[in-house]
Amino acid sequence: MNMMTDTAAAAAATAAAEASPTVESSLTLRDEMLAAGLLIDTGENGLYGRSQIFEDVLEGLNTAITHLGRDQEPEVLRFPPAMRRTDFEDSEYLKSFPHLAGTIHSFCGNDMGHRRLLTALDDAMAERDDDRSDAWMEQQKPTRIVLTPAACYPIYPVMARRGALPAGGRTVDVLSYCFRHEPSLDPGRMQMFRMREYVRLGSPEQVMAFRQMWIERGSLLVKLLQLPVEIDLANDPFFGRGGKIVADSQRAQALKFELLIPVADPRGKTACLSFNYHMDHFGALWKIPCEDGAVAHTGCVGFGMERITLALFRHHGLDVNAWPDDVRALLWGDTGTRIAQAMQTMQAPAAAGDGA
Ligand code: ATP
Ligand code: ZN
Repeated sequence: MNMMTDTAAAAAATAAAEASPTVESSLTLRDEMLAAGLLIDTGENGLYGRSQIFEDVLEGLNTAITHLGRDQEPEVLRFPPAMRRTDFEDSEYLKSFPHLAGTIHSFCGNDMGHRRLLTALDDAMAERDDDRSDAWMEQQKPTRIVLTPAACYPIYPVMARRGALPAGGRTVDVLSYCFRHEPSLDPGRMQMFRMREYVRLGSPEQVMAFRQMWIERGSLLVKLLQLPVEIDLANDPFFGRGGKIVADSQRAQALKFELLIPVADPRGKTACLSFNYHMDHFGALWKIPCEDGAVAHTGCVGFGMERITLALFRHHGLDVNAWPDDVRALLWGDTGTRIAQAMQTMQAPAAAGDGA
C-alpha cells in the first residue's frame, strides 16, 4: 500500500525503475494515459478525471455487461456513492479493512466555530499544498453517511427491509463509484472507481450456481475483449495481525475468486473481476430470510470498470480506432447480438449439466 505524497512517490518510483527495468512499464501506462489525455491528473494519486474516449470505452463495456446478465432479469438499482453510516457500521467492513474506508465530515458548528475554521484555513493556505495543516477540519464532525466501499453494500439493508426473499431468491444489478483509501501510482489502483455488480441472494445452492455461472460469463467477456484470462483464488489485504488468518481462511474456503489480467503493475497481474461467496455473512448481519425462513446466503460478481478499461488500453494500444475490429464491434456495434451468440456457443456443450 502506498501512502506517500506525490513527490515522494514519484522519487521512489524513479529509484525503483532504475533498480528494476520492469517497474518502468508501470509508470509508462500511467504516463501514457495522462499524456494522451485519456486520464486527467488531479495532482492526487489514484484520483483522476476521465476523457470522453475513456468513458466511451467504459460505457461500451457497461453495455456488454448488461447484455451478459440480461437473461437473469436482475432488478436494476442505482445508489449514489455513499451509504448510511449505521448500515456501514453493521457491515463489519471496519473489522477487515479499516485502512480503506472513507467517511464524510461536515461543518456543523456555530459562528464562533466558523471563525476558528476560517482562521485555521488562512494559516493552512499560507503553506504549499503538501505542507498544509488540516487544523480547519477540527471544526468538522462526522455526518451520518460514509463513502461506499463496494457497490453491493447499500443493497443488503434495502433487501432486508422487504422481508423474506421470494422462492427464487433475488438478483440485483448495481453500479456505483466506490472509495478506497489506497493512493497509488498504479492507475489500476484508484481511490475512486466504478464497480458494476450482479448480486445474488438466496439459498447456498442458488448462490453457488450463480457464482459458477459468472466465472464462466466473466471469462467469456474478457475473451471477447481479446484479453488474457486467468482465474485464481483471491488474496485480500485484510488489516492487521489477524488479517493473515482471515485471508488464509478466505482462501481455504474458496470464498473469492478473481479474474487477473496484466494491467499496469509490473509485479503481477491485477484483479479486474471478482467472484464472491459471502455465505450467510450479510444475510445474518442484516437479517435477510429466505422464503423458508433460513438465513439467506449472498454472493456477487464485481466488474472493476476502470481496471478492465485500462487493460484494453494496455493490450490494444491508446488509439481506440486501431483496436481489433471484433473488440470495437463488441463495444460499439452489435453488442447484444455478439454477446448472445457467444453465450449460445458457450452454453451448447454444457446445457445438459445446467441445473440452475
Ligand atoms: P485488490 O485485491 O486488487 O485490492 P479487491 O479484491 O479488493 O481488489 P474487490 O473488493 O473484489 O477488489 O472489488 C471488486 C472489483 O473492483 C475488483 O475485482 C477490481 O476490479 C475493482 N477494484 C478494487 N479495488 C480497486 C481500486 N483501488 N481501483 C480500481 N478498481 C478496483
Ligand atoms: Zn459485492
